[in-house]
Amino acid sequence: MSEQNFDLVVLGAGSGGYAAALRASQLGLSVGLIEKGKVGGTCLHVGCIPTKALLHSAEIADATRDSAKYGVTASLEGINIEGVTAYREGIVTSKYKGLQGLIKARGITTIEGAGRLTSPTTVQVGDQTITGKNVILATGSYSRSLPGLEIGGRVITSEQALELDFVPKKVAVLGGGVIGVEFSSVWKSWGSDVTIIEALPHLVPNEDESISKQFERAFRKRGINFKLGTRFSSVTQNDEGVVVTLENGETVEAELLLVAVGRGPSTAGLGFEEVGVTMDRGFVITNERLETNIPGLYAVGDIVPGLQLAHRGFQQGIFVAEELAGLNPVIIEDVNIPKVTYSDPEVASVGLTEARAAEKYGADQISSYDYNLAGNGKSHIIGTSGSIKLVRVKDGPVVGVHMIGARVGELIGEAQLAVSWEAYPEDVAPLIHAHPTQNEALGEAFLALAGKPLHA
Ligand code: FAD
Repeated sequence: MSEQNFDLVVLGAGSGGYAAALRASQLGLSVGLIEKGKVGGTCLHVGCIPTKALLHSAEIADATRDSAKYGVTASLEGINIEGVTAYREGIVTSKYKGLQGLIKARGITTIEGAGRLTSPTTVQVGDQTITGKNVILATGSYSRSLPGLEIGGRVITSEQALELDFVPKKVAVLGGGVIGVEFSSVWKSWGSDVTIIEALPHLVPNEDESISKQFERAFRKRGINFKLGTRFSSVTQNDEGVVVTLENGETVEAELLLVAVGRGPSTAGLGFEEVGVTMDRGFVITNERLETNIPGLYAVGDIVPGLQLAHRGFQQGIFVAEELAGLNPVIIEDVNIPKVTYSDPEVASVGLTEARAAEKYGADQISSYDYNLAGNGKSHIIGTSGSIKLVRVKDGPVVGVHMIGARVGELIGEAQLAVSWEAYPEDVAPLIHAHPTQNEALGEAFLALAGKPLHA
């Protein structure tokens, strides 16, 4: 039996937990960081980072296929999955080592093992009792399945999809949200035949409808199949493959089925309810300052209802650390959090969709402008099509920016500033954008919405 006391105890060292620990230690608090797996959590080891490595490999495959268009003689001989794995693991290992070094350098005490909350100020890890003046819960999330659908064998989650040592010839993907379309995009670029099954009427269904429709056109053009507005009714598998039967009676046959139907909070059996934390369907309920119903006990990241994104968890971790250090940080508004769907094409958005803005302000109180990337020199050079849609309140600020096209994720920073700072298009329109960049397209969209369209 041993006992350790800290100013702050953090349970879970993913994006939310480690960010809280780093910032708190920087602000002079002693920190105990408890992790049962690897510091860095989902994002670093089985989420954001390794999937983007796969997408980069996919982009190179596509560029090689298209190389003649750019006057380069090259041909795609195939995908060497061992090489892809070595590249992916190399990136993850290097970032992991960097994070471990940073945690050590900041004087944070890492406690290895699975923790359980036994009081608002205590976490038990095996025979170690870890107490903190404050505790942050940051235990993250897991890949959900659906009732009647068991994960195993040829029915896999994103974690197993990352680890595949072959490129599937034919793959079915249940769920047309971010994770589903990301893997679909990679596999298609590597030569697989891909079919996505989505219960809602659109792929990337949380995006502005006009963007979802463009996305569907782009995926269709790439030869990715999808079945929208239909649910699976059963799945059978054998040594050869898997057969997914849909509610409408259709069947989809494939070598593998990726289940990408969202992520649930990893909170079961960790003592939260027993200690009296208010929960809702497994999520931890907090106030806007991320404190639970128990004073001094906080929660961050995917276990808090809202967008399950690494940068949200990260910012929430920083927020709570600053709160505890008495810095009175600014409350995080989920609506201003940028979202990027990494695929070919990319989708990036911040703020309200046109439909949500119409609900909030009244349809006659908003206007929107769609800028076609065909008018942007750099987009033409890199061979992408797409668009940038701005939504504004009449004679008021820009409340939403929605983009689709290659690399538009890199443009989200400026869009986020405009939306978060409630900028009027007239404020942003005079800013000069470097030529030729894709950023100029955003500049031109602001100009147009300010009533000064340059090329329209
Ligand atoms: P996690 O990162 O899940 O960390 C929780 C940590 O807590 C884990 O390390 C876990 O081992 C530990 N833990 C759990 N229970 C205990 C316990 N009892 N004791 C000790 N330790 C415990 N987000 C983006 O913003 N961009 C992306 O591109 C992106 N891509 C993604 C791709 C995929 C395939 C997936 C699955 C996710 C992706 N995400 C992305 C989401 C992102 O990974 C999560 O939002 C983020 O990791 C959440 O951070 P977190 O700190 O809440 O939880």
